[in-house]
Amino acid sequence: MERLNKLLGGLFGVACGDALGATLEFLSQEEARKTYGYLKDIIGRGHWKLKPGQVTDDTMMTLCVAGGILENPECPIESIGNRFVKWYNSDPKDIGMTCELAIKKYIKTSNWKEASFYVHHISKGRTAGNGTIMRCIPVALYYRDYSKMIDISRLQSKMTHYDEKAADACVLYNTVIYKYLNEETKEGTITEAIGSSEDYKYVMNMKKEELIPSGYVVDTLRCALWCFMNNSNLEDTICEAANLCGDADTVAAVAGGIAGTYYGYDSIPERWKNKIEVKDKLMSIGEKINSTYN
Ligand SMILES: [Mg+2]
Repeated sequence: MERLNKLLGGLFGVACGDALGATLEFLSQEEARKTYGYLKDIIGRGHWKLKPGQVTDDTMMTLCVAGGILENPECPIESIGNRFVKWYNSDPKDIGMTCELAIKKYIKTSNWKEASFYVHHISKGRTAGNGTIMRCIPVALYYRDYSKMIDISRLQSKMTHYDEKAADACVLYNTVIYKYLNEETKEGTITEAIGSSEDYKYVMNMKKEELIPSGYVVDTLRCALWCFMNNSNLEDTICEAANLCGDADTVAAVAGGIAGTYYGYDSIPERWKNKIEVKDKLMSIGEKINSTYN
């Protein structure tokens, strides 16, 4: 498969998971079924009263990470951070608490390390949320040097989330994305990336009822990996992830990033792709990243 097809698949997979899942965010499965049935379309509404195709912080922060990397690939953190601040100042209606506190602190201190340590302190060590895995896919799509890719995956996580579990999850996820971009096998890639990790090694033995679609990054990544491995196409993967409910937009965005890179842009239903409000931006970012390969 063409690299551009995979690149765009990853970016649009995140956006489609986000836009579809956002309708179900904060609902229990029971509440969601009553109101929406088993949701398979991007219809907006939900807690954030979205328009169909409107995306949330997951996709908007992904665009910030991609833009920062393209501006300064060698040391992208400040460029990424400037975009976080600009987005924060645009008064987005949805922003995760850890990201919000860290960006606010950065505005006062101009120091991301200090900002994320401060948030870790005031939140009593609870900074292993899914706010960095949801935005980190451009790192794996851009860097060809594997160790540079791992470094930047960690560094972008540490800007807002001090906890190592958040950075570890970004590394696992981006390792999978990187390998799929290079045409490696579906199951072997996941097994190898999980390795002997205590947090993820039993994920394929879990029953669906044991999945917890929470904002804790370990729960989120387990849900995404499980849905990807237990479905054979992108549409079913994203629908199953979103319909777990809870932190549905991020669970589906992470599952969508993996499935999109593996199955490619062509596998994403037209009725989803056409609705995404930032589709032109995603397309242009994918093409810019792709052009650096030539
Ligand atoms: Mg969101």
